[in-house]
Amino acid sequence: MSLSAEETLERLKKGNEEYLRKRAYTGDVSAEICETTDSEGQNPYAVIIGCSDSRAIPEVIFNAGVGELFVIRVAGNVIDDHQLGSIEYAADHLHTKLVVVLGHTNCGAVAAALKHSRDGHIKYIVDDIRDAVGNEKAADKACRLNVIHSVKMIERDLDIQKLESKEGLRIVGAVYDLKTGKVGFLDHNEWMVDRVLVDALKNLSESTDWDIETCMDNMKIPKEQREAYKAEVARNI
Ligand SMILES: [Zn+2]
Repeated sequence: MSLSAEETLERLKKGNEEYLRKRAYTGDVSAEICETTDSEGQNPYAVIIGCSDSRAIPEVIFNAGVGELFVIRVAGNVIDDHQLGSIEYAADHLHTKLVVVLGHTNCGAVAAALKHSRDGHIKYIVDDIRDAVGNEKAADKACRLNVIHSVKMIERDLDIQKLESKEGLRIVGAVYDLKTGKVGFLDHNEWMVDRVLVDALKNLSESTDWDIETCMDNMKIPKEQREAYKAEVARNI
């Protein structure tokens, strides 16, 4: 029986807490689990789309053993058809219920995008990240925007409504802190909102003496989205 998306999220958070507490990897890599998963097949509870960076190892970060995580790693955790195909396989055939896009601090691919460096085939990755981060200059915020962009691409390109209602699939974004070892899951508000509108709302509230509700009235932001926009404007980074 597969874990639900909510149960999976709790398990990943608990796994990261264990890793932080023990500062050791205690995932099950025993001969027994290798034999069982070989003969009975795999039943991973989460798909992780993470960066190839040698310091951000999903199984270690979440203290997960053999058969637990379906991991896709590519520099800058960018999304293209190969990644989407892998996610679809895990959702349709392995009945995995949670997809996590896992960015990390001090990501070289994000830094290359901020520096506009475009050598050789790296340009395919850098161009995707530049689309995601726009004119953002701060590395931490660019990292989060890149994660959100990948979440949105998955939601847009997979038939996510169908997968959500039929399979109970959920997609979340997270950022791993290389220094502390902690995984911070992103607030859902962060990808509910349009970044351009958030910036415009910030500018409007800073350049006038209107309160935030008046600014949102002026910008015709729908009532049901206002809490999300308020939270984003209040967010520091
Ligand atoms: Zn990276």
